[in-house]
Amino acid sequence: MANKIFTFDIAKIRNDFPLLSQKIYGKPLIYFDNGATTQKPRVVIDTLSKLYSEHNSNVHRGVHYLSDQMTKMYELARQKVQNYLNARYVHEIIFTKGITDSINAVAYSFGELCVKENDEIIVSEMEHHSNIVPWQMLCKRKGAKLRVIPFNEKGELLLDEYKKLINSKTKLVAIVHVSNSLGTINPVKEIVAIAHKNNIPVLIDGAQAIQHERVDVQSLDCDFYAFSGHKIYGPTGTGVLYGKERWLKEMPPYQGGGDMIDRVTFEHTTYAELPSKFEAGTPNYIGAIGLGCALDYLTTIGLSNIQNYEKKLLDYGTTKLLALKGLKLYGTAKNKVCIFSFLLDNIPAYDTGIILDKMSIAVRTGHFCTQPIWDHYKIEGAVRASLTFYNTLEEIDFFCEALKKIQKMFE
Ligand code: PLP
Repeated sequence: MANKIFTFDIAKIRNDFPLLSQKIYGKPLIYFDNGATTQKPRVVIDTLSKLYSEHNSNVHRGVHYLSDQMTKMYELARQKVQNYLNARYVHEIIFTKGITDSINAVAYSFGELCVKENDEIIVSEMEHHSNIVPWQMLCKRKGAKLRVIPFNEKGELLLDEYKKLINSKTKLVAIVHVSNSLGTINPVKEIVAIAHKNNIPVLIDGAQAIQHERVDVQSLDCDFYAFSGHKIYGPTGTGVLYGKERWLKEMPPYQGGGDMIDRVTFEHTTYAELPSKFEAGTPNYIGAIGLGCALDYLTTIGLSNIQNYEKKLLDYGTTKLLALKGLKLYGTAKNKVCIFSFLLDNIPAYDTGIILDKMSIAVRTGHFCTQPIWDHYKIEGAVRASLTFYNTLEEIDFFCEALKKIQKMFE
């Protein structure tokens, strides 16, 4: 199957990612675990190394050359994220440790500002635990309730049920943009519009969307959007919280410490302006600059090229997997990304994963931090192959042959 029919040069792209040329157990690696984390292009790896070797100095505090330069690079990275998300103001971009940190920050700060006893927070049945547990903790603290939007057998949210859940006690809707287990792309713009008609703000978990979809926070009109750097080809330990200025200004800080203050006395502290108010302590400035570099890399390739190519992978992979007798695919929404969760005959997911590993194919098995999804299907979990733009049609062919071999072994 020739890849040259596509508009970009897949061999050249793969060459940008050093890890992909590795051999595992003496065989070429097939990395289908991009939902867990993505590999890093050489330009990001080299940038991190150069920053530590030549530029390292703490930001926002030194009067000296290195600190000044590093501060400028850090703030430039913030602008890159602002441009990538099309945020209105640069101070609406908060750097965090990752999306889990971003959601916890909102759950705490927004919760302190707006949530009281008997209020309600709406999430969906297909949320990652990161977008369930922080809200549950908030509900427990405040005596509030969690309400859940269900999904249908294909893995599509039931918007009529969502509308029924909204009432005068609803204080926030927290919803995943793209499901990490089902691949579903949720109609987040519509979900936001419905909430806003009722004056309810919306947080979007963009962990699995930001690397595949064009995200324009002004067009979505969401109140918060969060993602992790490591899932978009950037460094681990980096993340972003976008928040509309009006919310971030009103919300109390999540953590106290250096850099987030204006004036401290033992009696009283006043806080710094945005975004510093939400960035207590030394930030992961080198990571943030690395993330900016990853965004530059993606922009050079072009998100629409990436989307076109990934659509071919999705269509090809879906056809090939559905042709395998005994394979059950979970997540068949009309609008989805290239994530395939499945079970093969009655073979335990873990066994399939372990044997695939021995064939040098990296997938994930288990619940993928979405236990309520598997409760819906009344199973423990599945095998997940999550592909991205550096994967190939040949890898899908090899993967399907490997699955057939596993079926034979268990016959
Ligand atoms: N939300 C979704 C949809 C995810 O897929 C993940 C990670 O897989 C997370 C949140 C949590 O991301 P992190 O562990 O980077 O904080």
